[in-house]
Amino acid sequence: MKLLPSSEIWFVTGSQHLYGPGPLKQVADNSAKIAEALSTSKRIPYKIVFKTLATTPDEILKVCEEANSSATCAGLVLWMHTFSPSKMWIRGLSILKKPFLHLHTQFNRDLPWGEIDMDFMNLNQAAHGDREAGFIHTRMRLGRKVVVGHWSDPEVQDRIGAWMRAARAWQDWQGAKFARFGDNMRQVAVTEGDKVATEMKFGFSTNGYGIGYLVAKIDAVTDKAIDALVADYAKRFTLAPALRKGGKEHDALRYGARIELGMRAFLDEGGFKGFTTTFEDLVGLRQLPGLAVQNLMADGYGFGAEGDWKTAALLRAMKVMGEGLPKGTSFMEDYTYHLSPKGHQVLGSHMLEVCPTIAAAKPTLEIHPLGIGGKDDPVRLVFDAKAGAARAASLIDLGNRFRLIVNEVDAIKPPKLPNLPVARAVWECRPDFKTACACWILAGGAHHTSYSYDVTTEMLEDFATIAGIELVTIDADTKLGEFKQNLRNNEVYYHLSQGFRA
Ligand code: MN
Repeated sequence: MKLLPSSEIWFVTGSQHLYGPGPLKQVADNSAKIAEALSTSKRIPYKIVFKTLATTPDEILKVCEEANSSATCAGLVLWMHTFSPSKMWIRGLSILKKPFLHLHTQFNRDLPWGEIDMDFMNLNQAAHGDREAGFIHTRMRLGRKVVVGHWSDPEVQDRIGAWMRAARAWQDWQGAKFARFGDNMRQVAVTEGDKVATEMKFGFSTNGYGIGYLVAKIDAVTDKAIDALVADYAKRFTLAPALRKGGKEHDALRYGARIELGMRAFLDEGGFKGFTTTFEDLVGLRQLPGLAVQNLMADGYGFGAEGDWKTAALLRAMKVMGEGLPKGTSFMEDYTYHLSPKGHQVLGSHMLEVCPTIAAAKPTLEIHPLGIGGKDDPVRLVFDAKAGAARAASLIDLGNRFRLIVNEVDAIKPPKLPNLPVARAVWECRPDFKTACACWILAGGAHHTSYSYDVTTEMLEDFATIAGIELVTIDADTKLGEFKQNLRNNEVYYHLSQGFRA
């Protein structure tokens, strides 16, 4: 993935000088062992380093300052092995800009009931030390994740791992740049939003570029580069006969490759992590970019169609969260419904732009007419998406705040769709179609989503906590009445909590 930050988590243990140097050395050694064990676990996506044993307000402030200025520190795990009076933490936590996870664990798993003495008790005090820490976090209204259990417990490690993925996506967003080719699809509301508020809240910037700048890059692509990419397509995909060398549409495939190479050049030269297109602004392009967008998404670029920059950014974040996981994440749109009394289903797709990382089998590379856009027939990858549990997520701008909406769904193997020349996914919603769609619509969720088999609801919840934004989840336990009440409650909470800074 291009521009993926190198990341590490700092493990910081809290204590004080009440115990003397011997126990403090033991605390530091134990902390290093935990960080090492976590770091080498296959459930943990990247490195956790034991940073320091903090025992005074100055030490705590110092590590928080260092974390803020470190390019690689994606977040901190805090743990109070012994008692660490938490007024000592106020100055440090007041300036800390990085996300943190409060790990409520204990070095010893089992109590040695027969031998336990006061030395043991004093060395294993997280049971009350972490409560003192939790109070100050709550008193300071700090968003954080609390994970409870022994550090060797696989469930504990998975929860830490999920948060680390969210923390890295947040790290990736800071200073990230997204390019919009053209503007929004005219008159569409949900894909609009406040780019200033977004940059203040999320740390990434979105700026527009006239399509002519992209066309210049596309026109500058060499035939030799196109030869190589078309040969690569033939290895990775099953080509429709008309697109093969000597086929009557082979030139259209070459033009598709030209778009991909031009887009890549533009994005990489500008250091962009994602982009949008719109079919209403394609002056100078012969085809709507389909194949190009699909291949760029597969390489980790965020994408939103019709100028949908919030979905482009969200897709990039979810690509980073899912990094190294096997099942895939894509731009998606709720397209059409199967409303049979035997079961309601959603057919998700787009005009062209669905990411091949979610394909169940090798995609076919095809060419077909496109009803809208008024351009030459575009080349595109056609495939069925995988079956299995997935999440669809939408980020919307409510004017005074952002809301992340997540629906847990179960994708099924699509029926045969011989006349549908686009990639597609078919899913059933949790808890059921009618409840899920009513909740989604009441929450204001978009028709565009970022759709993933790898990114879990827990990761998205952690991400929303880090961002300090509202999250609403529609899952197997959702009840419409409670959901509506939560939306009303959230209106009040977020209005008050953000004050003038929204
Ligand atoms: Mn769309």
